[in-house]
Amino acid sequence: MQQVFEFFEKLLDTSDWPPRWHCGKWSDFHGWLFIISDLLVWSAYFVIPLIIIRYISRRQDARFFKLYFFFAGFILACGATHLIDAFAFWYPAYRLNALFRFATGVFSWATVIYLVRLLPVAFSLRSSNQLEAEVENRRQAEYKFRNLLEAAPDSMVIMDESGAIQLVNAQTEKMFGYGRAQMIGNNVEMLMISKFERLLAIGRSLRDGAATAGPVMERVECFGKNVRGEQFPIEISLSPMFTDEGLLLTATIRDVSEMKRLEREIREANSSLERKVLLRTAELEVKNRELEQFAYVASHDLQEPLRTTTSFVDLLRKRYYGQLDSNADQYLDFISQSSDRMKVLIHNLLDYSRLGKEKELVTLCCNELLQDVLHDLDQSIRETNAVIHSVTLPQITGYKTEMKQLFQNLVSNSIKFRKKDSDPAIDINAVKENGHWTFSFKDNGIGINPTFHEKIFVLFQRLHKRSDYEGTGIGLAYCKKIVELHGGKIWVESLPQQGSTFFFTISETQ
Ligand code: ADP
Repeated sequence: MQQVFEFFEKLLDTSDWPPRWHCGKWSDFHGWLFIISDLLVWSAYFVIPLIIIRYISRRQDARFFKLYFFFAGFILACGATHLIDAFAFWYPAYRLNALFRFATGVFSWATVIYLVRLLPVAFSLRSSNQLEAEVENRRQAEYKFRNLLEAAPDSMVIMDESGAIQLVNAQTEKMFGYGRAQMIGNNVEMLMISKFERLLAIGRSLRDGAATAGPVMERVECFGKNVRGEQFPIEISLSPMFTDEGLLLTATIRDVSEMKRLEREIREANSSLERKVLLRTAELEVKNRELEQFAYVASHDLQEPLRTTTSFVDLLRKRYYGQLDSNADQYLDFISQSSDRMKVLIHNLLDYSRLGKEKELVTLCCNELLQDVLHDLDQSIRETNAVIHSVTLPQITGYKTEMKQLFQNLVSNSIKFRKKDSDPAIDINAVKENGHWTFSFKDNGIGINPTFHEKIFVLFQRLHKRSDYEGTGIGLAYCKKIVELHGGKIWVESLPQQGSTFFFTISETQ
């Protein structure tokens, strides 16, 4: 301890040693070589820290800031030992020399420890090759991005949070008529009739949503404004982009003038079509009513002269039958048969025109309705050995007499138009689909050529001679009118000699 005190007391005391010149045998050359070398090393060691400090003061972004200070201190301390060595030739302050060496040693080890601790971080840093490769990758990505941007069919504008345009593509120049340089840096409001705040608010809410819901986009409709001040409808797809410089908004802008024009045209065409359909329907309804009225009046008024003709023919037959020649008798027969037939036709026509008039809609059980019909047709069923099979039929709302007539016409036709060589078999079915019941009456009769599938529903249309099959050709016209009266439709599927299936629909909620 005594020595330590003595050491610091005599720190600058040089009396214990002779100057280095007098210690041993120095030639001038040897001594000055020593001194100049030490001074060269010291001066270089002095300048290096200055350079380091200047470097750090300029490069605020330099990494490992502390390391530079450690290096500067370490080099400065090393230099100082050389300076003292040079001075020792005249001023042998060996205690100060030892202190400087000790300080240099401590600084050197502090630097070593710091370096060792820094090593893992330094290893994890990317090499300049890696950095160059990364820069190259980024350059290529940017190149691709720009190519994509330019090739996009829509105008694309990238703007920052203040609305300043950062990037545009060729389509933007084409759509708005501005040069790229005119747009970059300017507010996006120069291109549209919409406040940028609106877009920003949407962009921000998208950004907040993106944190939870992933990438998002929203469509905004507004008006674009080109360099000539002309306005046109545009659709903007807005999406946020996160960058080091903050939130950027990407707007993909599409000129929708053509689409809007087409939409308008379609709307106008639709409404004019609707108007035409309404007009036509109204015209048809009037014509239908007129026709019904005509049929009613005609058939009603025809009855009177027909009755007169029939009664006079009857009178003629009573009084003069057998008194005239045989031709006259035959003529009288013809007149009376035709009159009878005309009577039936006029009756049918009258009934047809009256269908659904002044009647009430009621709930009908189709099973009961069918039983009534089969009861009425009992005789012909028995005579022809007809077999009729039906599933359980539904309840519907309808006109009772008319529905019964419909069932009756279909069943009696299936019996009437049976094949000569087989007994009639009729299958009745009803299935529920899309809010209505589809009934089907399937038989194994003579079938119908597809050419006549529509024609048979027309009033007085028949496919056979009266001598082959009795009838007036009004039955299916009746059926059609009854089904339409209930809001349904009727059709047939059939091939000659392969039976027929008549379908009709009745609304479920009628
Ligand atoms: P009608 O029975 O008085 O001849 P319809 O209007 O009932 O009149 O029938 C029109 C025509 O449709 C019939 O003449 C017949 O040719 C054909 N037809 C109707 N029902 C059937 C059926 N079930 N099988 C084959 N043909 C049929």
